[in-house]
Amino acid sequence: MTDKTDLLPCPFCGGEKIVDVYIRDGREVKCTSCGGSVHAFQPDASAQARLKWNTRNTKQFVEQACEAVDEVFNNGNYVSVNRFDIKRAIRDKFK
Ligand SMILES: [Zn+2]
Repeated sequence: MTDKTDLLPCPFCGGEKIVDVYIRDGREVKCTSCGGSVHAFQPDASAQARLKWNTRNTKQFVEQACEAVDEVFNNGNYVSVNRFDIKRAIRDKFK
């Protein structure tokens, strides 16, 4: 883990504990709250992963999250849908 002061809060959950960790041949910048992450590989993996994290397309995320919610309600049993179903669908969308 390295200095994380230059990493923006998580675009998915607003979490502020963001870590920059080693992965094979690269780095992963990851939210410790929801697991949202980006990866980059050598050379310059840490700088690239941080850049990806700080510039990720939040508008695209919103659209994908809305699709996940639609998928939950389109599966036919929306009478019993609760916030946990919706959160799970959104998290599954970004695994
Ligand atoms: Zn998060």
